Amino acid sequence: MDKFIGYRCSLCNAEYLPGQVTYTCPKDGGNLDVVLDTNALRQKYQPEDIASRRDESLWRYLPLLPVADPGGEATPLRAAGWTPVYALPRLAEKLGLRHLWLKDESRNPTASFKDRASAVVVARARQIKAEVVVTASTGNAGAALAGMAAAIGQKAVIFAPKTAPPAKVAQLLVYGAQVLLVDGTYDDAFDLSIQAANEFGWYCRNTGYNPFTAEGKKTAAFEIWEWWRGESRESRVENSPANLYSPLSILVSVGDGNIISGIHKGFKDLLAVGWIEKMPRIIGVQAEGSAAIANAFQAGTETIIPISAKTLADSISVDLPRDGVRAVRAARETGGTYITVSDQDILAAIAELGKAGIFAEPAGAASYAGLVKAVAQAVVGSTDPILVINTGSGLKDVRAAMQAVKEAPIIEPTLEAVKKAI
Ligand SMILES: *Cc1c(COP(=O)(O)O)cnc(C)c1O
Ligand SMILES: [Zn+2]
Repeated sequence: MDKFIGYRCSLCNAEYLPGQVTYTCPKDGGNLDVVLDTNALRQKYQPEDIASRRDESLWRYLPLLPVADPGGEATPLRAAGWTPVYALPRLAEKLGLRHLWLKDESRNPTASFKDRASAVVVARARQIKAEVVVTASTGNAGAALAGMAAAIGQKAVIFAPKTAPPAKVAQLLVYGAQVLLVDGTYDDAFDLSIQAANEFGWYCRNTGYNPFTAEGKKTAAFEIWEWWRGESRESRVENSPANLYSPLSILVSVGDGNIISGIHKGFKDLLAVGWIEKMPRIIGVQAEGSAAIANAFQAGTETIIPISAKTLADSISVDLPRDGVRAVRAARETGGTYITVSDQDILAAIAELGKAGIFAEPAGAASYAGLVKAVAQAVVGSTDPILVINTGSGLKDVRAAMQAVKEAPIIEPTLEAVKKAI
């Protein structure tokens, strides 16, 4: 069955066949949504067909993805997705919440959410027989593409700003990608990578440009759906107050806006095949110094006005978000909202999550910082079930992590000194 039937422009609604376009809408440059034949999918599959699969990776959702199986058995490419959800009882209590969980995307093969997009783009590249894949990246998208490509011997070229945190650059180099550090911003790297892709015929993964990244990212929504089915079923058995669950609220940090759009797309697909009845609330969190999408949301428009981004959360530091329109809609169409947080809030969130055993990079902790504010502003209620997403590992940016904590004392190797220090 060919379930991938085309694309629809998110701005002008123009429709295209799969072979007609590759990246954005030729008319207005709008981001393209992948259109699946959801009627056929609805007839062919039941939720149990997915839930009974033994594949513990995002590839368990292959029936709902617009790509063929990329092969590469037992490689890191096969291990993307299927990240754990943790309960956070002590943090919940501190915030006065009843039901709080965290989905830990740092557990992906290259330690960020971006593996989902890169895995599916690499599958697409293989299908269209692309020789080289390229991306611009603040670090994580590149690391993910380099890692997923290396897993199946695909060539990758990465453009990153020269200011990218060293751990991320190290990942790119160790995975054997051709790395070009641009003396400019992420936005400069973005434009340059597209020029290079056109010049050399490379397949471009860029976020908010290649329609397949959101298809990869939507698999997080599928996992949340499967987890939530189990969670609500168990609560029913126990006859707990969780029976009264209002819809799940999902908090996620936002830079270009592609993760939040991808999660929204995943739930829209589930709605279209009839596997859910209502959408969860999707709440986007941006850094105060990089809030172009939040600004548009608060102004009640879809017009994204570029800013000059400044935040220590490098993964969400973006002047011109490339998927802003769909990102605004993800919150607006699900009863969600946007919240902005300061760098101080983010550093505090790193320390708080750390005490629960979770090590997040600044952009990953931003979602929790957003939750703290959402509680204070009564955006979420005390009995609402809430899932925050940690999008990346703290090991990606150790310098930022050290700003979130007090330095360890250096002591003489004597018991006397220990007594003084503790
Ligand atoms: C890319 C990234 C984000 C933001 O995703 P967008 O699609 O740019 O909104 C958030 N956190 C981490 C760790 C990321 O790498
Ligand atoms: Zn268009």
